[in-house]
Amino acid sequence: MISTKGSGQPAQTVDVARVFLFSEAAAVFAGDYSIMREKLGGKGAGLAEMTAAGVTVPPGLTVLTSCCRQYYENGQKVPEGLFDEIWAKLAQVEKALGRKLGDSEKPLLLSVRSGAKFSMPGMMDTILNLGLNDETVEALTKLTGNARFAWDSYRRFIQMFSNVVLEISKDKFEDLIEDMKDERRVSLDTDLTSEDLQILVKQFKDTVRSKAKIEFPQDTREQLTGAVEAVFRSWNNGRAIYYRNLNKIDHNLGTAVNIQAMVFGNMDNRSATGVCFTRNPSDGKKELYGEYLVNAQGEDVVAGTRTPKKISEMSREMPGVYNELLETTTRLESHYRDMQDIEFTIERGKLYLLQTRTGKRTAAAAVKLAIDLANEQIIDRSEALARVEPTQLNQLLLPSFALEDKQTAKSEGRLLAAGLNASPGAAIGEIVFNPDESEKLASQGKKVMLVRVETCPDDIHGIVPAQGVVTSRGGMTSHAAVVARGMGKPCVAGCEAFRVDLENEIVSVNNQTLRKGDIISIDGSTGEIFKGAIPTHEPKFSNEFKTLLEWADEIRVLGVRTNADTPDDAERAREFGAEGIGLCRTEHMFMSPDRLAVVHEMIMATATPEREQALEKLLPMQREDFKGIFRAMQGLPVTIRLLDPPLHEFLPRYEDLIEQVATLKARGAKGAELRDKEILLQKVRELKEANPMMGLRGCRLGLLYPEISRMQVQAIFEAAIALKREGIEVLPEIMIPLVGHVNELKIARTQLEAVAKEIMQREKVEIAYQFGTMIEVPRACVTANEIAEYAEFFSFGTNDLTQMTFGFSRDDAEGKFLQRYLEGIEAEGDKQKVITQNPFEVLDQPGVGKMMKIAVEYGLQARPNLKLGICGEHGGEPSSIGFAHQLGLSYVSCSPYRVPLARLAAAQATLSAVERDK
Ligand code: PEP
Ligand code: MG
Repeated sequence: MISTKGSGQPAQTVDVARVFLFSEAAAVFAGDYSIMREKLGGKGAGLAEMTAAGVTVPPGLTVLTSCCRQYYENGQKVPEGLFDEIWAKLAQVEKALGRKLGDSEKPLLLSVRSGAKFSMPGMMDTILNLGLNDETVEALTKLTGNARFAWDSYRRFIQMFSNVVLEISKDKFEDLIEDMKDERRVSLDTDLTSEDLQILVKQFKDTVRSKAKIEFPQDTREQLTGAVEAVFRSWNNGRAIYYRNLNKIDHNLGTAVNIQAMVFGNMDNRSATGVCFTRNPSDGKKELYGEYLVNAQGEDVVAGTRTPKKISEMSREMPGVYNELLETTTRLESHYRDMQDIEFTIERGKLYLLQTRTGKRTAAAAVKLAIDLANEQIIDRSEALARVEPTQLNQLLLPSFALEDKQTAKSEGRLLAAGLNASPGAAIGEIVFNPDESEKLASQGKKVMLVRVETCPDDIHGIVPAQGVVTSRGGMTSHAAVVARGMGKPCVAGCEAFRVDLENEIVSVNNQTLRKGDIISIDGSTGEIFKGAIPTHEPKFSNEFKTLLEWADEIRVLGVRTNADTPDDAERAREFGAEGIGLCRTEHMFMSPDRLAVVHEMIMATATPEREQALEKLLPMQREDFKGIFRAMQGLPVTIRLLDPPLHEFLPRYEDLIEQVATLKARGAKGAELRDKEILLQKVRELKEANPMMGLRGCRLGLLYPEISRMQVQAIFEAAIALKREGIEVLPEIMIPLVGHVNELKIARTQLEAVAKEIMQREKVEIAYQFGTMIEVPRACVTANEIAEYAEFFSFGTNDLTQMTFGFSRDDAEGKFLQRYLEGIEAEGDKQKVITQNPFEVLDQPGVGKMMKIAVEYGLQARPNLKLGICGEHGGEPSSIGFAHQLGLSYVSCSPYRVPLARLAAAQATLSAVERDK
């Protein structure tokens, strides 16, 4: 390797050698796993490490990820000289094994697989049994004494190669197999004889000739060349791009290519293939967990076409191999210090490991594993905290069904069937059979349940928006199970009682027929499927979950508060660990149907006394609201924001009123009904603004109608005093929204503080209170020193601040142009992304973040003890929480369900800062 380190530039390396044997890679890269993963991809790095650790791995070689990048840079041309390197390394593999690619006596067969830095299961292409042709298939027959096996391998190879390299649809070949089975009156592929398979091979070759207009390549080097190129190409197939977008994986990384000697799990009944995890990936329990199939190839397990046996059965069926597997996998887990997902093949009683990678797991398993590994002293507490992805915790807050409700459903005969509990959680949805339809109906707001025989990577766009997934075939490691677990989506897999007829869109189950649109409820934790809807319940937390959050609390610096507008929300958030309310949006209290009439009265008032009369009615209601919230928070600080939205939001829509008035007039209506509607219409017309989000709202509303804010402050203080008399300390923080000019805050505060003082004097009770403002307008950021004179705290309203900094309407942008910005705009014959993340979800640090930084600096200059928080949606998003930590804010505030996530993300922010400072 040549290092081209420039002055002050990051190190750039040019790979001189581009192909490495598994047996040499670990030494070449000095065992540095992160470099190996980057260069050799996850799979290649794993193979190299396993080989170095003395695990039995079939030999092979890896082509570096940089070659894939060059392939695209060269306009999809394989880098010059690459194949010379491949042939040279392959010769070494051939020598070691005493077999040769294309040899008519001792042929070497190869697998060619993709493998990027980050695992993208099933998204790219793989070819097995490469090296078979009309001649080598005979040699394989002789060598193994098993003609059926040899011809079956050949037909599988033609099928895969034709699909992946020649891009001929899989269905063509599947149809021929089905026809053959019908003709022979058999139901399983394994019932076809070697003669049948020979005929199929001929038919497959005819298909290639007619579809691709070429003879199926007999030259084995040509086969390998085509396969390597196809793997490079598959980096940019539709499903790989979709997966990378979904998982935020860089599109420029490229894939490595692993070329490996084949071993066969389908040689005889002493052969098998399987997948196992070193711990249970559903709940984290310490046990060897997985599945295997005797006399089968790997794709049979992953594709879910045959339902496999549990790995525990192997201890009886093949005890010697089982013990070796257990010993090897345990060793791998200690080496990687994490749960491993391992693919293995047994060829005539000999165990080979084909892959090891960090296992995907449910959130429950991730939490248990982190705590268990720390308790087993394999990792330390900091690493345990870093191991759990904060957003995964949301899975643990998933609802479940109550046992009694399920019991009732059972007694009503609504239990349809049970399959495998592939991914936990309760879900309810209407049945759809087609992934495209799942996507379409879900985008219309419907809750859908995707029901399939099995899923494949092409279905991912239908799995993502579904509430849950049901498959009738496949095991715990089938595609549906793995993908659903990774996403935290409930899934029942391999439910064989569900006879799914995709063509007619029906499911037959126990003499019943379900159709598209029928509602079913699935329990991904038990595998049960019920007809109709079952009520869902809030989750209970495991001890490991509590421990993890306790460890997080010990090290985090950022406080975590919640955005809550009701006592229920406040209580829930406290159970989740919230340390106060960072935003109570009072407008939500005005929206309930029993209040709306009084609110209308207030808005319709033509003069202040009339408005005050309506406010008089609202006052006791508001007071009760605040008492409920203060009581729920038991002495923790509560930030209450005064009324923020434009008033028209409380009134009927302008367009609806016009229609109603027109209808009344057409019906010849007269009198009070028509007059009231016309007055309402007149008011809505008066309040109508071209750009309401920049109109009469926030502090502007309070300044023009001070009686509204006065009523709210009165309610806050009377509630606080009432609770103080009950012995509950209350810390109200009154927050004035949308301030852009210091005078807005100065005037509002002066008026409102006077109300607060008057009430405290009248009641002879002192309340510890603060006044502060939201920072939501760019002008407020750049004049924060002036504003801080009148504010004891700032809370960044990053929803509005994002809207106003970008000039993107938060109501419209996401549904209109933002999606295009994220997907990319056609430019210079290419799709170029304008932005890579939705700034309303992930805080835009260079822009909005810079505004915040300025506000923090200026604010602290004027008031060194200024309290700083964030209460926009970003307060519950991990990378934004990291940024809040870097800015030195005191707390983040987010919706109750995100509080656990925020506690963990805040701890991770502390850990990252410690790492950075090292
Ligand atoms: C904000 O703007 O970030 C905020 C929290 O206020 P709202 O979303 O209610 O406008
Ligand atoms: Mg706002």
